[in-house]
Amino acid sequence: MMGPGPSNVPDEVYAALGTKTIGHLDPYFITIMDEIKAQLQKLIKTSAKLTLPASGTGSAGMETCFVNLIEPGDDILILINGVFGMRMQDLATRLGANVDTLEFEWGTPVIVDAVKKKLDAKTYKIVAVVHAETSTGVRNPVAEIGALLAATDTIYLVDTVTSLGGIDVNMDGWGIDSLYSGTQKCLSCPPGLAPVAFSEKAVAALKGRKTKVPNWYLDLTMIIKYWEGHTRAYHHTAPVNMLYGLYQALDLILAEGLDNAFERHLENHRALVAGLEDLGLQMLVAEKYRLPMLNAVKVPDGVDEAGVRTALRMEHKIEIGAGLGPLAGKIWRIGLMGHTARPENVRRVLAALKTTLA
Ligand code: PLP
Repeated sequence: MMGPGPSNVPDEVYAALGTKTIGHLDPYFITIMDEIKAQLQKLIKTSAKLTLPASGTGSAGMETCFVNLIEPGDDILILINGVFGMRMQDLATRLGANVDTLEFEWGTPVIVDAVKKKLDAKTYKIVAVVHAETSTGVRNPVAEIGALLAATDTIYLVDTVTSLGGIDVNMDGWGIDSLYSGTQKCLSCPPGLAPVAFSEKAVAALKGRKTKVPNWYLDLTMIIKYWEGHTRAYHHTAPVNMLYGLYQALDLILAEGLDNAFERHLENHRALVAGLEDLGLQMLVAEKYRLPMLNAVKVPDGVDEAGVRTALRMEHKIEIGAGLGPLAGKIWRIGLMGHTARPENVRRVLAALKTTLA
């Protein structure tokens, strides 16, 4: 699995997923929930009390953040340089927000000065950005944008679906108020859960809503009562086995150590890029802004983009991703996410590409 996710899943996580199901209100299960929350706080680097895995994939995480924070007529700024920024715009617009956007060329990062100008001209309730744009392989300057918002009332909302577990994510240090992720990228768990965290500022905005959260399933004012406190109230049946899987996956990452996991991603990314360049291939993104876990490679002129992916899948049992939107047909996306980021996988994909492109 060397595409944009899902990534390879370690055997320990498969074993955890297959453990016997117990009741989602069983006191033993509640101790596991508390431990998952503590693991996520370590991973995200936050003391935010409202930290939990929402039921659903990364998009459910996105939706959880937006439906709980947006009320009709709110002024929202979305920074867009790929598919997932566009998805944020779609979601916020559906919720009746007044959405302003700043768009940047796909394959390049958000320009902080442009954001500053926009913020000098207008005050927003929420500013939202994707940390790791999976559609292009660009790392956005999340810390720098957070610095612009420090000491303002604006809520800073960040997508960490692809970044979490592969590069540093520092919710409290970067002033992030609302963050979501997904399990199937650098956490190396199958798709199905979306870690979400809300700072005190975001919780205050949630509690101060004039209107009900317009989505019952993702309403944190109700879900909180299942994840916090002495009397755990049923909201929806928790996906018990998925939570076992996440518990195990987070345990593996924390046992390795966050810095070691980030270094492993970086080293394998560097080896992959060097090998790709030896094959005469070029990267889409300038070195400074590249993500280690998502490598966007330009398809050389005259090469059958889809044909290469099919050959890798059929002849070498390797999945890589295609380009999306304006980059469709122009790039391949090679993932080195979580458990996949290992030297043997780098060697395998390089050898397979060499044979296929020969
Ligand atoms: N945000 C980013 C940056 C993503 O890469 C993805 C999925 O690839 C999503 C959001 C949506 O997640 P999902 O497909 O798990 O719903």
